Amino acid sequence: MTSYDTVRIDDLPVRDELRGKSPYGAPQLDVPVQLNTNENPYPLPEPLVARIAERVAEAARGLNRYPDRDAVELRTELAAYLTRTGKHRVGIENVWAANGSNEVLQQLLQTFGGPGRTAIGFEPSYSMHALIARGTGTGWISGPRNDDFTIDVAAARQAIAENTPDVVFITSPNNPTGTAVEADTVLALYEAAQAAGPSMVVVDEAYVEFSHRDSLLPLLEGRPNLVVSRTMSKAFGAAGLRLGYLAAHPAVVDAVQLVRLPYHLSAVTQATALAALEHTDTLLGYVEQLKVERDRLVTELRALGCEVTESDANFVQFGRFADTHAAWQRILDRGVLVRDNGVPGWLRVTAGTPEENDAFLDAVRELMKEQK
Ligand code: PMP
Repeated sequence: MTSYDTVRIDDLPVRDELRGKSPYGAPQLDVPVQLNTNENPYPLPEPLVARIAERVAEAARGLNRYPDRDAVELRTELAAYLTRTGKHRVGIENVWAANGSNEVLQQLLQTFGGPGRTAIGFEPSYSMHALIARGTGTGWISGPRNDDFTIDVAAARQAIAENTPDVVFITSPNNPTGTAVEADTVLALYEAAQAAGPSMVVVDEAYVEFSHRDSLLPLLEGRPNLVVSRTMSKAFGAAGLRLGYLAAHPAVVDAVQLVRLPYHLSAVTQATALAALEHTDTLLGYVEQLKVERDRLVTELRALGCEVTESDANFVQFGRFADTHAAWQRILDRGVLVRDNGVPGWLRVTAGTPEENDAFLDAVRELMKEQK
């Protein structure tokens, strides 16, 4: 029997593109103030917790059966939510749901990417786009951004024309920078992608409820190769639920079903998500509070002498630090965990409760004193 220590990943016959790579790994450290993974700091309200218990109990009585494979009730309610908030009519035929928007993105790449195909994103952006590309055997192309982290439209169009990617990712608001993308930019890149491809354009709107601007959902009209991806992890305060969804032309919804695992969305997940959707208005109330806190973080960080990137999300990118990792560590030493996304000079803080944000601002105040 071989000892466990002597066999490592690279000793196994893993796919070449996985050799020497590390998994996604935002540190999960046990510190008092955790502002590093863009979670919503507010626990679900008690009446919602009670409603989840009720709906899950109901679902539990039927757990001997497979769940609704098409998640009809859930997709109907998600469509109603999008129609109500997105200034665009969305029906069940336009909506697909999965275990977090990460799974939605994976299904999209399994459907439209894969071996011999490529996807492009404009970096820095959400690191999982490249990692899911790798996991699905899709080649990854890193596209450019301007110095202020907006998308350089001319350079992006050129990158699309030259590389003819099969999938184009546009993240709005962007993670980790917080930058919203103009509708005109999406239209310009969609046009370029259709001329080069045709290819799918995926707008990742994980944080859109926190934005000063409207969702890009209305752009779906007449654009069958456009997909908008959303999640209940942030605005609905339900990162632990694992529920993401997309809105697109019905043909896209049909297409992703070619790769989804049967019964991928458990009856417990569907019941919990439906309960949360019943409490949408309360949860969106927390979003309003977080937007106020986000704007306060921007103002106060600037007052402390930091550079801050305009944010439309529930987090703020701030800097600039000569030694980014040392700055991250100094903030952590004061009990506050923020995120070093590997963008030189910049860190990212998630908007927490007012008390958590105060603790963070105190830590940065001390840090800035040390830097003088
Ligand atoms: N897209 C973006 C831009 C994100 O930042 C995240 C989470 N950090 C996700 C998608 C995935 O979220 P989830 O799988 O929880 O829906």
